Amino acid sequence: MLAPLPFRLLQVGACRHPECVAMRGGQWGAVTFPALCGLIQHPTLGNWLFDTGYSDHFQAATQPFPERLYRWVTPVSLPSEQQLTAQLAQLGLRPGDIDGIILSHFHADHIAGLRDYPKAEIIAMQAEYAQLSQLSRIQGLFHAYLPQLLPASFSTHARFIEGMRLLTLPPELQPFRYGFDLLGDGSLLAVPLPGHTHHHLGLLLRRQDGQIVFLVADACWSIKALQQHRPPSWLAQRLFDDKRAYLATFGQLQQLAEQNPAVLVVPSHCEVTARAWLNESI
Ligand SMILES: [Zn+2]
Repeated sequence: MLAPLPFRLLQVGACRHPECVAMRGGQWGAVTFPALCGLIQHPTLGNWLFDTGYSDHFQAATQPFPERLYRWVTPVSLPSEQQLTAQLAQLGLRPGDIDGIILSHFHADHIAGLRDYPKAEIIAMQAEYAQLSQLSRIQGLFHAYLPQLLPASFSTHARFIEGMRLLTLPPELQPFRYGFDLLGDGSLLAVPLPGHTHHHLGLLLRRQDGQIVFLVADACWSIKALQQHRPPSWLAQRLFDDKRAYLATFGQLQQLAEQNPAVLVVPSHCEVTARAWLNESI
């Protein structure tokens, strides 16, 4: 289980938001929340992404009203060199070289680049998609869901996680007990981290240097919040699908971090983690 794989963490844009909303006791001023995603290069099953971060499709989708409100609440920056397609090109990869994309959840800052990768198989939770696809335009917006970011073939071509094999995780990853075996060889395991959205997922993998990496997406927003026991403010929690489940998941991540600090927990929007990774100190 968790055979070592080449892995890179990539920052694809950022937004700004008051820190005190994202973390109790944080500052009032706006701080930067990077949008991180992962590139996994499997030796036989190809190139996989975990989420996509922002893209120009996000700017297009939030041009009209009422979607423009989304940009006002969380102003986005995406320098051209941070575009995911540009970063992949630097690594010698074209959009057609991406074989699959695993989605933590359907919020726009995680799925905005999907349409850039026409050959990629998309893996996601069916229950989450089924719930979102019933929402009106306005309801979707309040769930940070912009359906125009999905490829037209999504509902017929996505591969859904629910039917996949469940593997029991090793004791070192407790209190997390099981993960969905996404590629069938135990190398990439999707772990349910409910609360932020009902069916929100994290991804477990092992880097080539042996380090276990747990990409926890939006189950916590910064490593500081986890270490200092500072969950998001009541205001942010109102945006979550299930506040109670979020706090339970947050507590489990704290427990894992305390019991086994050797596991590298990577939130999708953690500035400290992004800088440490770019400086190659983690
Ligand atoms: Zn989210």
